[in-house]
Amino acid sequence: MDLASKVRVIKDFPKPGINFRDITTLLQDAEAFKKTVDALVELCKDMQVDVVACPEARGFVLGAPLAYALGKGVVLLRKPGKLPGRTVCYNYELEYGSDALEVHEGAIQAGQKVLLVDDVLATGGTVAAAVELVKKSGGEVAGIAFLIELLGLGAREKLGDYPVVTLLQLE
Ligand code: AMP
Repeated sequence: MDLASKVRVIKDFPKPGINFRDITTLLQDAEAFKKTVDALVELCKDMQVDVVACPEARGFVLGAPLAYALGKGVVLLRKPGKLPGRTVCYNYELEYGSDALEVHEGAIQAGQKVLLVDDVLATGGTVAAAVELVKKSGGEVAGIAFLIELLGLGAREKLGDYPVVTLLQLE
């Protein structure tokens, strides 16, 4: 099965000029979802990690089954105000304005090796913030996995030497 064909492209969402890669069409297809998770497990199974961390919301959908299959726990990285306990926060700048990611204090322990997972690597801004949040928590990023890498946006350069795996590379 061609997984890329299961990803729907919605033009001009959320704003003009963006080709939004809608993975809901892949997720709702049992065979495509299973194949996606299995393939991500295959790409990540040899990484030496202690825990999987993923940003909301689509990162959760892939991070949780991947963590389960790898026999690891899953740590949620959330937008401000969503986590009930005390949090560690990382603020970052966007093209217009700023945003932040939070994680519960103690969710990532000092020295833990973390596998970051998200659906789409576009400019790399979100994952760069997730990397900083892991570091601020005392953890170490041991690998980064995406379902889709959008080529030509310069994201890889932002990720330095971290091991990055991506299932689908799209123009
Ligand atoms: P970025 O920070 O630019 O790498 O964007 C990554 C985050 O935004 C991911 O969590 C994606 O869910 C979402 N995203 C950015 N661009 C797209 C796109 N063209 N299609 C679908 N999701 C996107």
